[in-house]
Amino acid sequence: MSDTDAPRRGLVHVYTGDGKGKTTAALGLALRAAGQGFKVIIIQFVKSNPNCGEHLFVSNYHPFEIVQLAEGDSFTMAEEDLRQATRKALTRAEEVLRSDEYQMVILDEIFVALNRGWLDSSEVIDLMSKKSDSVELILTGRKAPMEIVRLADLATEMLMIKHPFSKGIKARKGIEY
Ligand code: ATP
Ligand code: MG
Repeated sequence: MSDTDAPRRGLVHVYTGDGKGKTTAALGLALRAAGQGFKVIIIQFVKSNPNCGEHLFVSNYHPFEIVQLAEGDSFTMAEEDLRQATRKALTRAEEVLRSDEYQMVILDEIFVALNRGWLDSSEVIDLMSKKSDSVELILTGRKAPMEIVRLADLATEMLMIKHPFSKGIKARKGIEY
């Protein structure tokens, strides 16, 4: 059996830290994987702006799927609605990981949901252990718990050395959204 015929072994990545680049790193990986014919899904645990460049790109070109389970703006939504949206996202993630449909699953901002208390780290660990062998699983968000970093195969911390936000430059179209 040649190397390319061997079933691929999927690993778990963590992108964390307070510097910019976690979601965009995951999107870059999604692009690379989709280019190689992987079926990719991004499940967003905290609703982002639907006018975000990645959402516009996906609706125009359909390179992969992005799903958001929250309805409404996560900044103004009631705590209970956010908790319920997180539960829905978790159920969807479990289904997707159990199925053999996707080769790459990205759970964007899952650590934010975890740190807000809408999700328990044991539930994330459970997801990691239940994933099918061939699936590449990517978890993003600030403050990944050390117990999850230890279990991951790859962990990168985006270290904030400088960010223009500190000199009053607000989020920019095409860069932050
Ligand atoms: P990106 O989506 O640009 O890769 P990220 O996923 O690393 O950023 P998040 O923690 O998800 O960053 O931040 C949400 C928003 O805040 C994004 O628009 C991001 O670009 C921006 N951002 C990231 N890091 C910082 C920072 N240190 N200060 C201010 N804004 C930031
Ligand atoms: Mg992000």
